[in-house]
Amino acid sequence: MMVEKVVRGYIVTPEENFLGEIGITNGKIVEVSKIQGHLDAETVDDFGQDYIFPGFIDTHVHCYSNPNEGIHRASMAAAKGGITLFIDMPYDLPTPVTNKDILKEKIDTISKEAVIDVALWGTVPKENGAAVVDELADGGVVGFKLSTFETDPYRFPRISDADILETMRKAADRDLIVAFHAENDELLTRYIEDAKRENRVESIYHNLTRPPVTETTAVIKLLDMASWAHAKLHIVHVSHAKSLEYINWFKAQGTNVTAETCYNYLLLTTEDLKKFGPKAKINPPLREPNELKELEEQLLSGGIDFITSDHAPWQKKDKSIGDDNIFKAKSGSPGLEIMIPLLFDYLIGEKKVTLSKFAELLALAPAQRFNLNNKGSIEQGKDADFTVIHNRGSWQIDENEFISISDVSPFHEHTVNNRIEATIVRGEMVYTHDHGVVENNRGQFVKPNY
Ligand SMILES: [Zn+2]
Repeated sequence: MMVEKVVRGYIVTPEENFLGEIGITNGKIVEVSKIQGHLDAETVDDFGQDYIFPGFIDTHVHCYSNPNEGIHRASMAAAKGGITLFIDMPYDLPTPVTNKDILKEKIDTISKEAVIDVALWGTVPKENGAAVVDELADGGVVGFKLSTFETDPYRFPRISDADILETMRKAADRDLIVAFHAENDELLTRYIEDAKRENRVESIYHNLTRPPVTETTAVIKLLDMASWAHAKLHIVHVSHAKSLEYINWFKAQGTNVTAETCYNYLLLTTEDLKKFGPKAKINPPLREPNELKELEEQLLSGGIDFITSDHAPWQKKDKSIGDDNIFKAKSGSPGLEIMIPLLFDYLIGEKKVTLSKFAELLALAPAQRFNLNNKGSIEQGKDADFTVIHNRGSWQIDENEFISISDVSPFHEHTVNNRIEATIVRGEMVYTHDHGVVENNRGQFVKPNY
């Protein structure tokens, strides 16, 4: 059989893994074969024993929380990190994605700048939010990201219960997801005010002012509302196993809900918050070591749907301002370039998770949840998106070498025992370990049901 391109290696599919080859024509997978040499093509990329995973998907990225990052740079960072598609959050500086014109402008930027594929979240304004659901749905967002906690009154507001319910109902009519940053605004505003007044401003107070109850009370309210509204609910960055117990109870009762955790919560604890200070400040906060164990048990027993980076591209100045007062530092950390190698060591190396399960957590499950039907697995007819991982050798993460504008990570100088060998989007090599990122590759804006 004649095809345009052939990729060879140890192929990871949802059911099985084998040494074989993939035939690609017009950016699509036309054949997956267990016999090498079966397909004819002018271009053959043979990766030997390296793993060929489906292209990894990161559904939680903040390109424009820091406008110095932007789509071009973030997508290059993603390519280097083995991500073939990310979904960008709507809380952009200076203007969040709350109407069709802003959305269109962002889609234009993606067409001009993205080197990998990008999909988009929309959000709703603080007042009368549900009114914008239809125009953003028509424009092609994968869903709506809302918050119960006010990070910023204009860009990242707390949405009222009445507007949450109405947005849930309208989004459900469009078969779109409503996702939440779930923290209880009243509780943690009070705890933070108390701490500041008493000058308790060391790093650990970021954790102590956001105890688990500030997450769980927000989660359980949203679950109840979603069950009444028949919404498609997604809870982002779950940091605590108790939240997952509630989520999975509602799921068992028939509520349409999924949950993600972020790589930080699986790899770091309050010990790292004390050690690294502002670099390890994320919302919700890192939890105690025993709480991480419980989160890990949930993950390994199937209680978490997928894993994301919550990539927030802060720079040294955004973090160092909080060296003497943790409350002054920005929250969040970069992840696009390092999440996959770190999780590969942790999940496959340490926890003996299967290759197919790893691919499910980081490609198939997010693709299915957001109806990205041509993404997520290596199957005939789908897009030829692959991430090739070389499972030998070691290197050290250097925060000063990121492609991302971010130059500050709690994983600085952490040793990794695998590497991204290549990232392939629609059959095009966008990154190779030997030659770096192809800066002028063109990714596409991707809509749900595409
Ligand atoms: Zn986020």
